[in-house]
Amino acid sequence: MENCLFCKIAAGQLPAKIVYQDQDVVVFEDINPQAPYHVLLIPRRHIASMADLTVEDGPVLAHLFMTAAKLAHDMGIDQSGYRFLTNVGPNAGQSVFHLHFHLLGGRRLGWPPG
Ligand code: AMP
Ligand code: ZN
Repeated sequence: MENCLFCKIAAGQLPAKIVYQDQDVVVFEDINPQAPYHVLLIPRRHIASMADLTVEDGPVLAHLFMTAAKLAHDMGIDQSGYRFLTNVGPNAGQSVFHLHFHLLGGRRLGWPPG
C-alpha cells in the first residue's frame, strides 16, 4: 500500500535493521526499543490491524507466532521469557497502521502494562 511505512520497509524502500525475512514475513528492530530485545514482526501483505484480519490470514498469523518463538529461542530469551503483542487503535497506542507484533525480552516486563 502506498505511503505505508512498514510496506516500504518490507519492500526495501526504507532502511531498517532486518533480522529475518522470507516470502511472507519481515522482522526488523524497533527504532525506539523498549527492552534490550525489541523487534517488530509484520506480514508482507498490508493489513491495517488485527481488527482487519480474515480467516484467510490464519496461515500467516501462525507463521508470525512461530517465527517469534524461533527468534526468541535463537536470541536466548526463551528461558527468561518474553512478550509478543499487537496494539489495536487509540487506547492501545497503535501508531503504525500496518499489522505488527512486538517481540520484547531481555528484562523483566511489568504487568499490567501502562
Ligand atoms: P505501535 O505503537 O504498536 O503502532 O508500534 C509502532 C512501533 O513502530 C513503535 O514501537 C515505533 O518505535 C516503531 N517504528 C516506527 N517507525 C519505525 C521505523 N522506521 N523502523 C522501525 N521501527 C519503527
Ligand atoms: Zn502496509
